[in-house]
Amino acid sequence: MVRTRFAPSPTGHLHIGSARTALFNWLFSRHHGGDFILRIEDTDRVRSTEESTLAIFEALKWLGLDWDEEPFYQSQRTDIYKEYLENLLNQGKVYRCYCDPDELEEKKKLAFARKEKPKYDGKCRELTETYPDKPFVIRFKSPQSGKTEVDDLIKGKIIFENSELDDLILYRRDGTPTYNFVVVVDDVNMKITHIIRGDDHVNNTPRQILLYQALNAPLPEFAHMPLTLGKDKARLSKRHGATSVMAYKEMGYLPQAMINFLVRLGWSYGDQEIFSMDELVEKFSLENVGISAGIFNPDKLLWLNSHYIKEETDESLAGLLIPFLEKKGVKVDDVKFLAKIIKGFKERSKTLDEMADKTLFYFKDEIEYQPKAAKKFLTLEIVDVLTEVINRFEKAEDFSEEGIETIFDKITSEHNITLGQLAQPHRVALTGGTASPGIYEVIANLGKERVIKRLKDAIIFIENYG
Ligand code: GLU
Repeated sequence: MVRTRFAPSPTGHLHIGSARTALFNWLFSRHHGGDFILRIEDTDRVRSTEESTLAIFEALKWLGLDWDEEPFYQSQRTDIYKEYLENLLNQGKVYRCYCDPDELEEKKKLAFARKEKPKYDGKCRELTETYPDKPFVIRFKSPQSGKTEVDDLIKGKIIFENSELDDLILYRRDGTPTYNFVVVVDDVNMKITHIIRGDDHVNNTPRQILLYQALNAPLPEFAHMPLTLGKDKARLSKRHGATSVMAYKEMGYLPQAMINFLVRLGWSYGDQEIFSMDELVEKFSLENVGISAGIFNPDKLLWLNSHYIKEETDESLAGLLIPFLEKKGVKVDDVKFLAKIIKGFKERSKTLDEMADKTLFYFKDEIEYQPKAAKKFLTLEIVDVLTEVINRFEKAEDFSEEGIETIFDKITSEHNITLGQLAQPHRVALTGGTASPGIYEVIANLGKERVIKRLKDAIIFIENYG
């Protein structure tokens, strides 16, 4: 039974890199019909916040990465860590170290000065006395010789010399356990079978393996993924664009686009670019995770987003669009109307935010004309034609796209003008600009009353400024 875990530290929003870690763990477990565990690593009480924890839940839910069992909190598991520590103490595999931190710091500096790798000198390793009044840390008796091998599922075999490894501190002087210890205890206790995480944890792995051995626990598989870098090959940061997953939701990205984007940061399947979630669950494997860094390319995310916007149904896009319109001051009462107009914008919007901007003209009481467009198309010569259109529209019984087309056909042939000459002034009058969905569609959707009002407003504008 495969069990993976995602173990974020709740010290901020869900970062793109962490979201990818979560996704790979989720896909791997779902592919194997296994469990995906969420563990909040909140032992750093100063930097961890409830707000960050909730933000992580929200982002995972938005991405559709559901977890099994309850979310676990390391801050609630101190008794479990104590229990495992007792076990190690009883076996003599750990010891109390009373060394003064300042003294250790001095030794470290001296080692650096001698160009040596600083390492705890083992002064308290063989102590037999205990000093009840003296503060201490608890250290792991790390083997001094031999090698520790990691058969990494992505990176292959990595060999570490045990002599390079320090006697790891498992408990600090303030009685709190350290990262490497709690991670191993949790992974053992939660029966995690595969540890899929970022490259930056590789150096922790041999230390953690030694702890598994000390606890007589079976070793999980390890898979360290290359980090995600910016286009300039620097570590992903704000310079490369937003790094928070939810910032993309705010900007109008769809979760499917984000998932598809994240999975391709390191994983590939031939040259296929578009994957549904079901397809990913079916096709995902660690063999297809590359060893070189995934490059964060915001243009690709945008491209994926426009793809998924086109795939979405009008009804569901309408629902997604409402908060974006509300942010722009539009209160949407008629979702059906929204679904109807959306059709014209799916092909031309890369984000929901952009789509909301483009649909705004439908909801305005007054149209603001783009100056250049007004100058070019709202001119005195067009007033007669606009007036005639108003007359015909007022009498029109059929205000469907076809009905409007018939009226436009008549007017173009009677006035001997092209459809463009007729349509563009209407576009400016009705939408404010020169780019919009089909003019018949816009007119039909706006409805007779609003169209006539806008055309009359345009005539007044022309008479004042044209
Ligand atoms: N809490 C660690 C982090 O956020 C992850 C630990 C792990 O995956 O082993 O980097």
